[in-house]
Parts: sequence; C-alpha cells; structure tokens
Amino acid sequence: MKNFADFGLEPRVLQAITELGFEEATPIQSQSIPIALTGKDMIGQAQTGTGKTAAFGLPLIHKIAKEEERIVALIMTPTRELAIQVAEEIGKLSRFKGIRSLAIYGGQDIGRQIRALKRKPQIIIGTPGRLLDHINRKTIRLDDVQTVVLDEADEMLDMGFMEDIQSILKLVPEERQTLLFSATMPANIQKLASQFLKEPEHVSVIPKHVSAPLIDQAYIEVPERQKFEALSRLLDMESPELAIVFGRTKRRVDELAEALQKRGYSADGLHGDLSQHQRDTVMRKFRDGSIDVLVATDVAARGLDVSGVTHVVNFDLPQDPESYVHRIGRTGRAGKEGTAWSFVTPREMDHLYFIERVTRHRIPRKPLPTIAEAIEGKQRIIAERLIEVIDQGELTEYKGLAIQLLEQYDSVQLLAAAMKIMTGDKKEASDIHLTPEDPIRAKRRKPDIRSGRKPSGGYGGRSNSGGGYRRDGGSGGNRGGYSKGGYNRDGNRDGGGYNRDRNSSGDRKPRSYNNDRRPNRGGDE
Ligand code: ADP
Ligand code: MG
Repeated sequence: MKNFADFGLEPRVLQAITELGFEEATPIQSQSIPIALTGKDMIGQAQTGTGKTAAFGLPLIHKIAKEEERIVALIMTPTRELAIQVAEEIGKLSRFKGIRSLAIYGGQDIGRQIRALKRKPQIIIGTPGRLLDHINRKTIRLDDVQTVVLDEADEMLDMGFMEDIQSILKLVPEERQTLLFSATMPANIQKLASQFLKEPEHVSVIPKHVSAPLIDQAYIEVPERQKFEALSRLLDMESPELAIVFGRTKRRVDELAEALQKRGYSADGLHGDLSQHQRDTVMRKFRDGSIDVLVATDVAARGLDVSGVTHVVNFDLPQDPESYVHRIGRTGRAGKEGTAWSFVTPREMDHLYFIERVTRHRIPRKPLPTIAEAIEGKQRIIAERLIEVIDQGELTEYKGLAIQLLEQYDSVQLLAAAMKIMTGDKKEASDIHLTPEDPIRAKRRKPDIRSGRKPSGGYGGRSNSGGGYRRDGGSGGNRGGYSKGGYNRDGNRDGGGYNRDRNSSGDRKPRSYNNDRRPNRGGDE
C-alpha cells in the first residue's frame, strides 16, 4: 500500500493530505496506518524524518468524531519542541475535519494551558512531566483515552522519563490502543513495551545500506527562503544541458516550475497529479531539449530514463537515503559525467549526515555561488554559442549591418551589447514566492559532534557509530538531581527543561538543541 487513497481514510482527512502536497505514503506510513486503523497495538521502528507523525496521526484523526468532547487520544513526546512540532503537524492533518488538538509542555504558562483545555481538545500532545502536573491538578483526565502514542520512546527513556510514563499509562484505561515509536529498540524500550502493549505488531523500516553511484556530489547550506535564489545562481553558473530539480511535494514542484519560468528558464514540472498526456508532453520536451530544467517529485522521477541529464539538484533533501541515491542516479548515466547538488537548510544538517552515513559517502560542502559566478557562467555560455554560430557560417545576411555598425562604434562595445541582449535580463525575484517546506528533522546528537563538523574535516570524527542510526545515550534514566516522589513539581521540567535536565545530568551539555529544533516563538519560556 503506497497511495493514501488506499487506506480508506475519510475524505476530509485525504483532503488535508492533498493540501499538504503529500504524494504517497512513506514506508513507515504504508505499514503503520493499516495496523493503527485496526485498533491493534503496534511498535514502529523508524528514523526521524520518515513521517511518523502522520503514520499515527492520520488513523487517530480518521477515528475521532468531531463532536467528541473528551480527551480520547494522548501523544507523549520527549521534548517541548517535539510536542509543538507534532501538534503543528496534527493540526494541519486535522484541519478539514475540525479535530481539536493541544500541546502541553513545560515552560509555558500553565494557566494558559488550562484555558486552552476548556476548548475540549480530543488529542493531547504532551511531555510527560507537564502532563503529570495537569493530571495532579485534575485539569487533565485520562479516563476516556482510547489511544496512546509514545513518540520517540527511546528518547523519552534516555531523558529519564520511564517512571513518569509508567505513572501516566497506569491512569489510562486498560481497554485502549497503544502505539510505540522509536528509532532504536534497546532493552528498556522492550521492557516498557512488554509492560504496556498487548500483542503488538512490529513494524520496522530501518534503512538498508545503499551505495551512492560515483557522481560528483556537493551540498550547499542554504536557508529555506534563499533556496530559489541559490537555484537560479546555480543554474546560471553551471548552465546545465539537462537538469532535474527535485522538490518534496507536488505544490513545491508546481510553484518552483512556475517561478523558474517567470525568471526566464525553460522549465516545467512533473508530478503524480498530471494526466498521462501532460506527463508525456513534459517528458517529450525534456528529451528533445526544448525545456532544460525538469522539476519533479520522487514519484514522478521514478523509472525516468533520460540520457544526457547533466545535473540533479535536490532543492529539498529527500526523506530517506534510498531516495537520495535514486535521485542522483538520474544523472551520470551511460558513463557520462553528472553532478548532483543538494540544498540543505541549517536545521537539516543532521539529516544530511544521516544520508552520508547510510550511503557511506561523504558529500563535500560548497559555498553558495556568488552573483559574479552566476554572471560569469551565463556569459561563458553566450560566448560558446557565438563561436558555434561562427563555425556554422551562414552569416552573410548580417554582415552588411555589422560593417556599418563597426564604422560607428567600438567593436568591443558592440559585441558586449549584443551579449547583454543574448544573456537576457532575468526578472527580479521579488515577484516569486514559494511556500516554505518544513525542514526534515534529523535526530539530535551530542552538540560536540554536531559542531565538530568542519568543511574539510574527516568523516569519522563526527559519525558516532559505524553503520546504523543508533545514537549515543542509550543507558537511560540518569537524570541526576531529579527527586522522585510526588508530582507537584514546578512543571518546568520538561519544556525548557530539556536544557536544564541535560545540565543536571552532568554528562550532557546543553547547547544548540533548542535553537535547532524549536520553531521561533519567543516569550513562552
Ligand atoms: P518523524 O516524526 O518520523 O521524524 P515527521 O512526521 O516529523 O517525521 O515528518 C517529517 C516531514 O515530512 C514533515 O515535514 C512532514 O510534513 C513530511 N511528510 C510526512 N509524510 C510525508 C509524505 N508522505 N510525503 C511528503 N512529506 C511527508
Ligand atoms: Mg516525529
């Protein structure tokens, strides 16, 4: 099962998926959604960025009645940032159905949360500490919860939430569905699962190692909003004969193709929503060179066999390493040279490292092409074209005028003016707006590993384990200084508390996590 329409989700849920531009289900979604819909318990193992939120969120939203006024679903996440992110995604997925969800996390004014709870959300997304706070204040009751999701369970245990999770789960009716998601399956996760899950189905989408073909690869770190400018400069600098630009969603492909056309490139888009006829037309134009930039989604590019593709650009990073390998394999075919560029937003750097680890290939970093490089690239092409035309001859009918002009003007100036016309003035970027795509969020790792990456640094220094995606930590439950016993704490623990906890545990340094994962929303700490 790959297509969202195959899951039997109700139309208002499908509408949200369409709106978000998801073209097909990711592997974890394909496997989890049918199980989750049956009501069975489930353990899902998958990396970050594989679409787990929709994997558990869609069945939830499908099942919950709009009229429901009780809390019927509880999602636990390790950190405030994740609670916010999951809540945002759930919000988008439930937009058309009108399901109410609420994020509950430490560090935010509890009074504000209590007021929000009066709107009777059906789904609560919370961090364990603050959830217990509300439970003790009786502002949240779990008596009617039918589904519990433990998101990033290994991370929660690493942070020492085992007892909190146990206390919470004991308050949820036995008659319920429990879904547990985790990137790794250490013993303490298995213990938790055996305690609280009933005959769970296991689903695992651990990526297998794939090797990247020998294609010249590079990445450019670029903020989301500068990607289009980066693409124009790259296309100008490299002037590809044929390029495929990959976007993550159908919306992205449409917007990007249109933006490129506006800027004067001969580009067109390809995605799964086009009719066969439209697809054929685009492909024919691409093959015969009447368009030289093809913007495509993964799905559309699957099985695409075009020779002579000189460049692949990952405008958005792909979700998984296999797609990465597949995408870049569109170029460099039949022994020809190919170049693959990837745009990586600052928040996606860890995802890039993950791709590197799985593909066992280090992708060098290159700077954003400068305007001067872009201009130079364009001029080089013009010069090549001029020389080609001279070689072809047949210029007689232009010669009379050329001689006349040369009598009045300087030859260098004349030629420069002609080249300026040929270069064509690309329109300003001001009229171009692309809907931003959310970054793919990779697993956090120790800050010292993250910041240890230098453009020229060795590979080994920053990859914390050989093959898999296993992270450090793992021993769990070592949050020093945290006093057990009653739950009437200040409730700040798990929100901003991610920082604080890491501090007090002594063996982890707080640092860039917060900046990295937290959406900009000042003032609530
Ligand atoms: P995870 O929880 O596994 O880390 P998320 O649920 O946060 O992953 O999803 C990562 C990103 O991928 C989000 O921006 C989400 O909107 C997007 N996404 C999820 N499913 C799909 C899909 N089927 N197609 C395209 N993008 C998707
Ligand atoms: Mg997630």
